[in-house]
Amino acid sequence: MFCKHCGTEIQENAEYCINCGAKVKEEQTTTPPTDTYSNQQYTQPTNSNKINGMSIAGFILSFLGGVLGLVFSILGYNQAKREGTPTGLGLAGIIISVIMMTISVIVSFVYGAVFLELFYNGYYY
Ligand SMILES: [Zn+2]
Repeated sequence: MFCKHCGTEIQENAEYCINCGAKVKEEQTTTPPTDTYSNQQYTQPTNSNKINGMSIAGFILSFLGGVLGLVFSILGYNQAKREGTPTGLGLAGIIISVIMMTISVIVSFVYGAVFLELFYNGYYY
């Protein structure tokens, strides 16, 4: 067989080239790891770390407790799922939106109850 690097004829079972010192057996020993590495590279899109704007907008809006935050977060989450980008921020936006909306509902119920109690007790005359 011949050395891949310099073309010198070398022994069939030689590990290194006698002329240039290049590793001759390299191809055989490192082929499996190289394959799995390239497969991993193939399955991962190049924009895998990019978070879409919809998720970011939804996440920020979710703190305001509005329905808009929930809508943007769901859209962002779906977009991230479709593109294979991180869905964490979209998911966080959905959860925060739901929590904020729940809190605002509870708060308005409490305020409503307090108002009614004050009203029926005659404080508003
Ligand atoms: Zn060589």
